[in-house]
Amino acid sequence: MTDKESSTGRDAANTNTIYTAIIIGGGPAGLFCACRAAGGRILVLEKMPSCGRKLCITGAGRCNLTHTGTITEFMTHYGDGGKFLRPALMNFSPEDLLAFFREHGLFFTADENGKYFPEDGMAKDVLSVLLAECTRAGVEIRCGEPVRAIECTNDHFSVKTGDATYTAEHVVLATGGASYPATGSAGDGYTLAGMRGLPVTETGPALCAVIIRDYPFHALTGISFDSVPLSLYRDNKKIRQVTGDIILTVNGISGPGALHISRYVQSGDTLHVGFVTGTDEESARKYLTDTIANGKNRQVKTVLAEREIPVRFLIRLLELSGIPRDATCAHLTKTDRNTLIRYLTDFPFTVAGTEGYTTAMATRGGVARGAIQQKTMESKAVPGLFCIGEVLDIDGDTGGYNLQAAFSTAALAADAMVSEKTGRKA
Ligand SMILES: Cc1cc2nc3c(=O)[nH]c(=O)nc-3n(C[C@H](O)[C@H](O)[C@H](O)COP(=O)(O)OP(=O)(O)OC[C@H]3O[C@@H](n4cnc5c(N)ncnc54)[C@H](O)[C@@H]3O)c2cc1C
Repeated sequence: MTDKESSTGRDAANTNTIYTAIIIGGGPAGLFCACRAAGGRILVLEKMPSCGRKLCITGAGRCNLTHTGTITEFMTHYGDGGKFLRPALMNFSPEDLLAFFREHGLFFTADENGKYFPEDGMAKDVLSVLLAECTRAGVEIRCGEPVRAIECTNDHFSVKTGDATYTAEHVVLATGGASYPATGSAGDGYTLAGMRGLPVTETGPALCAVIIRDYPFHALTGISFDSVPLSLYRDNKKIRQVTGDIILTVNGISGPGALHISRYVQSGDTLHVGFVTGTDEESARKYLTDTIANGKNRQVKTVLAEREIPVRFLIRLLELSGIPRDATCAHLTKTDRNTLIRYLTDFPFTVAGTEGYTTAMATRGGVARGAIQQKTMESKAVPGLFCIGEVLDIDGDTGGYNLQAAFSTAALAADAMVSEKTGRKA
C-alpha cells in the first residue's frame, strides 16, 4: 500500500468490522508487527499523512538497521533494559532481521564499526519493504488518523480517532517515544497507556547533543575528535564513562560519544573530555610532555599541530590557559605546560542540559517494563493490549540498537497474537 493510497481519497472508516488487531502507529515496530501478524484482519492507524517518517531519517537517511555482535553483547547496549529485551532478541535476532530484508531483496553490510546499513539503498527502501509486505499480507493502513482513546468493552477494545471508533480483539501500542516530534511520535503513547492504567516511568530525551554552560568553543563548530573518553561526574563522584567520537557544536558537544552520555547527564554535572588520548590518561600526558620537551624553540601550537590536534583548537586552549599563542616549547613554564596538558587530556565542562526532544534520537523512560510480559509484550493487567518499540521504557545506544529493539519487540507481539499465547484468536 502506498502512502498515497492510504492517506488520501481513502475508503470510509470500516467501523463495523471487528479487527483481529489494531496497531496504533505506523513506524517500524507497528508496520513489522502488522505484516508478521498477518492472517487476521489487521488495521494500522497512523497519525501522520504517511507512515515511517522517523524511519526515513534514521542513520542520516541511510538507516543503521542493526549491529554486529552476540545477543549477550546486544543486551549491554540498553542500560537497565537489556535483560528485559533478552527474550525478544532471542526470538527475533539481528540475524533474523537481516534475513527478513534479504528475503525481500534488500541487502545490508556492516561498516568498520559493526553498524549495518543497506548496501545500495536508503532508509526509505527499508520502509518500502515494510509497506509492500503489509500490502501483500492484506493489512489495512489508515494514515492521518491520530488515536485519541482506547476503551475496553465486553472482551473487545474500542479505539477512537478524531473521525471514527474501531473495534478489535487486540490493540498494539506502537506510537514511539516523544523525541523528534515532527515525525509524529510526540508522546501520545504514554497518555494512551495511562488511560488503560499502564504505569509510565519518567521520560526524557536521550541520544541528543549536550549543551555546555559558559561554553568556550562556540567559534570552533565542526571540529571533531575520534574515540575520546567522556567521564561524567555528579557531586564529585564519577557516575559514567563512555568512549566515542565527538564534534564541537555552537553550544556544546555532539557526535556518538556525546549522544551516548546524554541519557545520563543533568544540569550542573561536570563532563570531563580527553581530547588527546593514549592508552590511558597517564600515557597521553607523558606523550604530550615528551612532545613539548622535544619541541625546543619551536612554537607550542606548531609542534602539537603536527600531532594532528587542530590548530584553531590549540590556539583557543592556549588562550584559555593564559599562554601567548606564539609561545615556544622552551619558554613554557611548568605550570603553563601542566595547565595546557590537563586541558588536552581532561577538559572539564559544566553541563547546562541537552538539546531536548526536538532533535533527540530516542526517549528514555516509557511504559514500565514491569507492567509488560517479557515473552509476549502484552500488558500484565490488560490482556490483549501490547506495547512495542520505543513507547516502552527501553532505549539503546546509537549503532542500530533502537531499531533492532523495535523489530524484536514487534515480532514477539505478533507471534504471541498469532500463536494465541494470549488465549485470544489472531
Ligand atoms: C534523527 C534520528 C535518527 C535515528 N537513527 C537511528 C538509526 O540509524 N538506527 C537506530 O537503530 N535508531 C535510530 N533512531 C531511533 C529510531 O528511529 C527509533 O527508535 C524507532 O523509529 C522507533 O520505532 P517505533 O516504531 O517504536 O516508533 P516511531 O518510529 O517513532 O513510530 C511511531 C509511529 O506512531 C505514530 N503515532 C504516534 N502517536 C500516534 C497516535 N496517537 N495515533 C496514531 N499514530 C501515532 C507516529 O506518527 C509514528 O509514525 C533515530 C532517531 C532519530 C530521531
